[in-house]
Amino acid sequence: MKKALQVYCATLIILLFSFPLAAVEDERVNFIDMEHEIYRAPWQSYQKLIALQSAAQSYDELTYLWWSLRKAQAENLIYFYDDFNRTVKQANTFVTDKTPLAIQAHLSLFQGLIYRRQGNYSLSQSELAKGLLQAKEAKLSSLYIFTKQELAYTKTLTEIFDASLEDIQEAYVEAFALKDQFLLASINETYGAIYGYLSEYKKSIEYYQRAFEAYQNLKYPAHIAEAIYGLASTYRYWKKYDLAIEYFEKYQQQIDYTPNSNISFFAAYGIGMTLAEKGDCIDAIAIIDKALAIKGVIDYNAELYKRKASCLIDLDRLEEAEDALFKSASIFANIPELIGTSWQLEVIKISSELAYARGQYNIGFGMLQQYYEEYTALLLKNSSERLLKVRAGLESERQRIEQNLAEKRSQVEMLEQESRQNSSVLQFYFNIFIICVILIVLVVIALQYRTNKKMHLLSIKDSLSGLFNRRYIFDYLHTAVLGSTPEKMKLSVILINIDDFKKINDNYGHPIGDEVIKNIAEVGRDVFRQDDIFGRIGGEEFLCILPRTNIIEATKIAQRFLAKINLSKMVKGRQDTVTVSIGIAALSEQCQDVNQLYINADQALYQAKHLGKNQVNVF
Ligand code: GH3
Ligand code: MG
Repeated sequence: MKKALQVYCATLIILLFSFPLAAVEDERVNFIDMEHEIYRAPWQSYQKLIALQSAAQSYDELTYLWWSLRKAQAENLIYFYDDFNRTVKQANTFVTDKTPLAIQAHLSLFQGLIYRRQGNYSLSQSELAKGLLQAKEAKLSSLYIFTKQELAYTKTLTEIFDASLEDIQEAYVEAFALKDQFLLASINETYGAIYGYLSEYKKSIEYYQRAFEAYQNLKYPAHIAEAIYGLASTYRYWKKYDLAIEYFEKYQQQIDYTPNSNISFFAAYGIGMTLAEKGDCIDAIAIIDKALAIKGVIDYNAELYKRKASCLIDLDRLEEAEDALFKSASIFANIPELIGTSWQLEVIKISSELAYARGQYNIGFGMLQQYYEEYTALLLKNSSERLLKVRAGLESERQRIEQNLAEKRSQVEMLEQESRQNSSVLQFYFNIFIICVILIVLVVIALQYRTNKKMHLLSIKDSLSGLFNRRYIFDYLHTAVLGSTPEKMKLSVILINIDDFKKINDNYGHPIGDEVIKNIAEVGRDVFRQDDIFGRIGGEEFLCILPRTNIIEATKIAQRFLAKINLSKMVKGRQDTVTVSIGIAALSEQCQDVNQLYINADQALYQAKHLGKNQVNVF
């Protein structure tokens, strides 16, 4: 009893203590599982996470980190880049060696994105590479692939195309194996970007389109916007300016999933750049200025200034052009990774145009020469043998992977079909087996039934005559008479004895005697009715019970029997006739007992014998 009480108390204490722990655990689990929700509704998820801000202060460290991580993710998707940077920075202060790798890998990825946005491409690459290792160690394949894809994209931005293509290729192979729609879409988006930068616009559009469709299926608004933006950008590079503007406008509509106005920087950037490249310089400058007024991304601003400078030269506003060009050049100067890229080189080209516009032909020519030298070197670098090989192999590699996978799938399908067939054959045999078992059981039951029936018949029938035997006849009589009164039930019995049977045996032998017995039985079967019970109760003595039959009716029947015996030839080929004597008795007020009934019938029979045999006598 005391022990039971102890167990009860211990359970109660455990329950009380584990309850709040379980609650916290649940909340953290919610944060871990929240990614899809954030992708689906970034703005709403952000608000939900912000509402938990004060509660988050009391979370344990791990839960707090997961909460921060998800908040950062939402901030990133709604373009709250300053908040995103702060959240990541703050979360990083909690990170120690003991922090789960899943969290560390996410934070490295985010830090990589921050560096990339700041134009710190080397730092971005090393952070992403760190995240890649952490994700690999933590066996987080999705995060690993996603990070690899981001790394590939980052390399593209600094025009390290060959390494970028290798990374994206690896990411693709792994995502394809995982059959993860989101990862494949992200990778296709990056492919779209890489092909765009490689001036393979048709392919770029194709991949962006695939990404767009997948994101639409997933209903991820921020990602849909990104894919539309990619399409717009490629159309811009392709010089399909009207399509580019159409898509940039589509993008502008798509980004209404967040009320953050900073996001419209990218739409303004795209439209401004396109208009400038198209030659609509007045409109372009207005939109470019609008974009520059919004807090955007630093190297995008460099592009805007560059394009604006170009437009201003066209409009002969050379002072302003110089100013814009200077701003662009300063930005590039602060991003070492961009020096020597086509983006940065274009500053030299526009500077030369400015010099020409000012009539400084020598300077202009010098700059143009410098531009072409460097640009040619860049082109050569980008068309290096290795890159050409990678590019050439890219499509065939993808096709090979897809083919392999398709083959594997069809093999699996074949195996499945085979096993389905095998199991259906097995099922077939099993069914046959079951049917056989059922049949055998049925046959056994039928045989048993027949045997039982036979046994029963044997137990109630007389083997010689085939009539009921003595035991059955008297049992029947007892049952019939039991409880019945003559008023209720009329019943008569006819007792038959073969006359001088001994002589028949003596004269013709026992077998003939047996035949006579059989023939008498046959006559009885013919004369007596369906309901009458006819049996052989002794050597050459028969009894017939006639239910619902009074003595007069019984006498008539007995007479009929006697007459038929007289007409029948009982012994084949002999002249001798066989006769029988019959005694009849019926239940009556005086006789209500089977023994008495039988005695009465026997007496009547005795009387018949005494009166000369071959006759019916009624008691
Ligand atoms: P009664 O007219 O007075 O009846 O004379 P009976 O000869 O018929 O009567 P009895 O009792 O003297 O003889 C009966 C004979 O019936 C004796 C016996 O051998 C013969 N018997 C009894 N059972 C069988 C049988 O199953 N088969 C044959 N063949 N004979 C039998
Ligand atoms: Mg006899």
